[in-house]
Amino acid sequence: MLLLGEGGVSIVSECIFCRIVAKEIPSEIVYEDDTVLAFKDINPQAPVHLLLIPKRHIPTLLGLTEADGELLAHIYAVIRQLAREHGLDEKGFRTVVNTGDDGGQTVYHLHFHLLGGRSLQWPPG
Ligand code: 5GP
Ligand code: ZN
Repeated sequence: MLLLGEGGVSIVSECIFCRIVAKEIPSEIVYEDDTVLAFKDINPQAPVHLLLIPKRHIPTLLGLTEADGELLAHIYAVIRQLAREHGLDEKGFRTVVNTGDDGGQTVYHLHFHLLGGRSLQWPPG
């Protein structure tokens, strides 16, 4: 079901990340503006594990279009800012977007994982 949240952002009431955007579910928010929210992953896989999401409900990367170019550029600008703020810019970090079942996506609201603070293995399992 589509509801209108604060500032006219569309919210899907069954979506856990939309409910985090609406502050119906608490989260440790590290960055917020009109279009983007970043918060700590509840089950961190690294010393720094943040999730960045567009406030607008987009289920997967496949839902993006060319019209989202500005949003994506902004998301990556926020990723750079958060990486610097968390001291990850010197040693590096990983940004991951899991897509669909085979990609390991469990929450169907587009999100960018920002992982760092330890040496990460490659390839993923
Ligand atoms: P995915 O597997 O879809 O790429 O990533 C979903 C991520 O969301 C997982 O890393 C999981 O720990 C995180 N997550 C799921 N539910 C919640 C929640 O309610 N709060 C927070 N902060 N993270 C969550
Ligand atoms: Zn959502």
